[in-house]
Amino acid sequence: MPPPAREPVARCETVWAMADPLVIQCAITGSIDPDPDRRPNLPSTPEAIVASALEAWRAGAAVVHLHARRADGTPTQDREAYRELVDALRDAGCEAIVNLSCGSAGGRALRDERLGPLELAPEMASFDCGSINFREQLFEGDLPFLRRMAEKFGEFGVRPEVECFDTGHVGLALQLRDEGLLPDPMVMQFVLGVPGSGVPATVEMVEHLRRMVPAGWPWSVCAIGRAQLPLNAYCILAGGHVRTGLEDNLWFRRGEPATNGALVQRVVRIAAELDRPVATPGEARQILGLTRAG
Ligand code: ZN
Repeated sequence: MPPPAREPVARCETVWAMADPLVIQCAITGSIDPDPDRRPNLPSTPEAIVASALEAWRAGAAVVHLHARRADGTPTQDREAYRELVDALRDAGCEAIVNLSCGSAGGRALRDERLGPLELAPEMASFDCGSINFREQLFEGDLPFLRRMAEKFGEFGVRPEVECFDTGHVGLALQLRDEGLLPDPMVMQFVLGVPGSGVPATVEMVEHLRRMVPAGWPWSVCAIGRAQLPLNAYCILAGGHVRTGLEDNLWFRRGEPATNGALVQRVVRIAAELDRPVATPGEARQILGLTRAG
């Protein structure tokens, strides 16, 4: 007997059918102290950072987010340390957008000392839009400093990736936009699940944050630890972009250390299954509003 006829399934109008190609960013190393015993897979020398960034780019990352380290692995905001990384990537033919950190190098650089990488005029750099409890430390970003930082981004023509660790940071970003200090549209990076911050890495939080900014602004989520993979997948579906990488999560799955290349490859596979094309670096420059070659 033939199986009973089924009602035809209504075509699912996917929310991301009209979305831009997916920009995959890989955060290569971060600024946590090196610890070869506990974190043997974290690239912690300049050579290892460059090699891992190349691997991520070849795997499909259109953006590589870099923190500089000394030869012994110590994080630093020294401009020349950043210059060596950028030059090495360019010499190797890397076409990815290079997004430099304006963070504190693990608390070693304070306020304006953080901004040295901007003097290299990279295509993009991180703009941490407020203060936060970051692990055991206070990460400072008072409004006068944010204004100075925004002016320096403008001075060197650097596209800010506005990192928001909390809802109030989005409010500050919009205020700085209204003051004419940050661009419109701006590139948003919602950073969720940082230990000590109290902001959970949940779909509800992603939805709340993305709705605080105008439709059409490119947005992405940086989720820490185990939240990275599920929120990567969610962002692909929701029309956002993706940040993966060892800065945020050291594990491929429970008990299996990751590499940056493997994390990017997995995002590429998930995007392919979900029928969302992956942006080339050139397409990513259009999507993120980068107006000049790096
Ligand atoms: Zn970073």
